[in-house]
Amino acid sequence: MAAVEPAREAAQKWVYTFAAGKAEGNAGMKNLLGGKGANLAEMASLELPVPPGFTITTEVCGSYYENGRRLPDGLAAQVERAMALIGEETGAVFGSEENPLLVAVRSGARASMPGMMDTILNLGLNDRTVQGLARNSGDDRFAYDSYRRFIQMYGDVVLGVSHGVFEDILENFKNLNGLSFDTELGASEWQTVIALYKKAIEDATGKPFPQDTNEQLWGAIGSVFGSWQNTRAVTYRRLHGIPDSWGTAVNVQAMVFGNMGNTSATGVAFTRNPSTGTREIYGEYLINAQGEDVVAGIRTPQPLTLQARREAGDPNPSLEEEMPKAFEELIRIFDTLEHRYRDMQDIEFTIQNGRVWMLQTRSGKRTTEAAVKIAVDLADEGIITHEEAVLRVDPAGFTQLLHPTIDTDAEKELLTTGLPASPGAAAGRIVLTSDEAERQKQQGESVILVRAETSPEDIHGMHASAGILTSRGGMTSHAAVVARGMGVPCVSGAGALRIDENSGTVTIGEHTLKAGDVITIDGASGCVYAGAVPMRQPQLSGNFARLIAWADDARRLAVRANADTPKDAKQALTFGAQGIGLCRTEHMFFDAERILAMREMICATEEEGRKAALAKILPVQRADFIELFEIMGERPVTIRLLDPPLHEFLPRNDAEIEVVAAALKLTPDKLRARITELAEFNPMLGLRGSRLAIRYPEIPEMQARAIFEAAIEAGKRIGARIEPEVMLPLVAYRREFDILARVIRSVAETVEKETGERLTYKLGTMVELPRACLKAGELTEGESGADFLSFGTNDLTQTTLGLSRDDAAPILSTYTTEGIYETDPFVSLDQEGVGELVRIGTERGRGVKPNLKVGICGEHGGDPASVAFFHAQGFDYVSCSPFRVPVARLAAAQAAIREKLAR
Ligand code: PEP
Ligand code: MG
Repeated sequence: MAAVEPAREAAQKWVYTFAAGKAEGNAGMKNLLGGKGANLAEMASLELPVPPGFTITTEVCGSYYENGRRLPDGLAAQVERAMALIGEETGAVFGSEENPLLVAVRSGARASMPGMMDTILNLGLNDRTVQGLARNSGDDRFAYDSYRRFIQMYGDVVLGVSHGVFEDILENFKNLNGLSFDTELGASEWQTVIALYKKAIEDATGKPFPQDTNEQLWGAIGSVFGSWQNTRAVTYRRLHGIPDSWGTAVNVQAMVFGNMGNTSATGVAFTRNPSTGTREIYGEYLINAQGEDVVAGIRTPQPLTLQARREAGDPNPSLEEEMPKAFEELIRIFDTLEHRYRDMQDIEFTIQNGRVWMLQTRSGKRTTEAAVKIAVDLADEGIITHEEAVLRVDPAGFTQLLHPTIDTDAEKELLTTGLPASPGAAAGRIVLTSDEAERQKQQGESVILVRAETSPEDIHGMHASAGILTSRGGMTSHAAVVARGMGVPCVSGAGALRIDENSGTVTIGEHTLKAGDVITIDGASGCVYAGAVPMRQPQLSGNFARLIAWADDARRLAVRANADTPKDAKQALTFGAQGIGLCRTEHMFFDAERILAMREMICATEEEGRKAALAKILPVQRADFIELFEIMGERPVTIRLLDPPLHEFLPRNDAEIEVVAAALKLTPDKLRARITELAEFNPMLGLRGSRLAIRYPEIPEMQARAIFEAAIEAGKRIGARIEPEVMLPLVAYRREFDILARVIRSVAETVEKETGERLTYKLGTMVELPRACLKAGELTEGESGADFLSFGTNDLTQTTLGLSRDDAAPILSTYTTEGIYETDPFVSLDQEGVGELVRIGTERGRGVKPNLKVGICGEHGGDPASVAFFHAQGFDYVSCSPFRVPVARLAAAQAAIREKLAR
């Protein structure tokens, strides 16, 4: 067998070449070639100007890690052939002194992971080839500057010599020679710096800087594969749910130079505005600069178009003015790419001596606002269908559109302005480091991360922040790109900020702010205000309304809201809820004034005391229900009987105990004794739900009366028949259901007799316990069985996993880090475990009542992945908190469309 293995390996294709007009790969091969590699191949096939190169597949990355970080044997020969091909295309030779070929080595995973892995440029330079480059370019300074950049990158990435070492050398050199800027160093200065760099490498590693260009190439390839497992990349994957097993590809490509003088440039462009979605070229460029300079935020780039330059009031020329021919060609290329990919593209390009080269294209990251506009516009332009438009928007980000905006009428003190990098307004305390942002977030603080610029090391802090403010960097700086992707409001490049981490201060003109002071940023206008500015709730109209209407046309699942108060119900209706799937009646009593009656009822020692408290509660509940029914009209409203875990409602401190004791005519000590009696070790598994109702039937009696009387009254007021859905919580046995059903039905009969009105209502149960799933058939069987089932997946998750809802946080963090839970099971349904019970419950319920109405009202009703699961199970509706209703509408539509496409 051992002899067969290498032969099989050698036969495997690990390298795919591309050059303008010919490519072995295409855009459909992202899994194998990574996003960057697949798109380079596609651009090459479209005959676009792509520097020739090749992609080493993601399979090699897999093999590299499986074999203890060793590259497979057959790879070398394939790389050698591909390098020769680049040489043929460019007319240059790798390692040649006369006409040296230089290459860039870049990572490129299936999913874009901007800045997370390593890149090495100018590879192929050594003490001899640099002279060839100098001769051929006619520019010594350029050649030696390229060489020192290469040594710096290679030293840092491949040889592990920190880039700080190189920065210190350069700073010292400049200080000693009275120089301030890199641009002041000529060829001979760079040669001195190069000698110092090489010495530093030899001192640190014990070996000279490699002069063998093949050794350089393999060092770089190994490092890029190795960077798949660096801390930044691992954190990014965890945050974005990217599996470790995907691996990265490596792209090796002939170098093109944007730093060959003033007819060269490098830039990035979006074919539409990624912040607003407006159809306009949007991007930045730098004359005489190399790749990473634009995103690094060191020099401030200039806008591409004349219009953008005018709008920004930028005195420097746009690319459109500076290099009109190259600009025109770029516009043509952008159009070709948008039509080919049928989506907005994010592009990197370089202009070398006036000639345009395409380095990358990919579907651009965008804010949700932009995603909606772009999807609607592309559909209007006939490029995609309505259903495709619906699939283009990530439902999880939909809540971004529900971001508040600054109240324009409010009084506010403008501190400064920067660039409107990611929309939404946010107020919070100033923090100056990412670790501090994370720490304060854990303590429940809303924070604004204020930095000169951000880097990939700041991901955790950016995630923890309500908003991000930077003093440097443009609209495509790290902070701007990442904040937009995360949906976090961001103002970037607020140049007036002076940040001093040591003293913990931020100075803006004569203002000095301290860490901990509250500011407000407006990512839509770029304004920064003092204090917390009042905000306005969003309006859901325009493009949003059109897209969501297309989604509603496509979906099968109904979407209801969990709403406990008239205010919630109104909010839910504005977000398009089709009914209320869960009204938690105990939540109607959280109010300070009302909670007293509730506490009296819970703490009463005798039935008499309980009845007196219930008599106080009845009119309040009835009035609430009337209002709720009036707001919801003929839409379904599910009212759940009282389900308080007792500990949430018991009086806690002496003051509360005194008030309740007085109301119950008990001494505080007697009440304390009663509270001790009621205390439970596991309140979530204690006297709650149907158990409470069976123990104290006067409670469901009162609630049923309030519901039915309210239905009749509200029905009269709005001139419609209101059919309430009464729901029993935490039921596991048919007998529990029957006992409570008898109480409710008899109240209904009494109310009918008293009022002379006929009532129609449904009586159903929540499914929150594994036993209820298993016995769903029994619970629903027959005329007197449950009319509907509503899965309470919060409790069902708690009871299936045996994991307390209230105590899960520390366990969740360990378990998600260890990969035991893929995601928090209280946020996204554990489809394999809890989902199996849901499937069994639905099947058994519908087995005895084929038309049984089945819904879900746990938090999972607003989680896109879970919504897709409930759709697949044939549910009638999901119900979620009002702010998640648009998310659920979109997710339900996407599930239906994907199901159709899969057929
Ligand atoms: C549930 O358990 O899923 C549910 C909706 O009920 P609650 O969250 O009120 O326990
Ligand atoms: Mg529950």
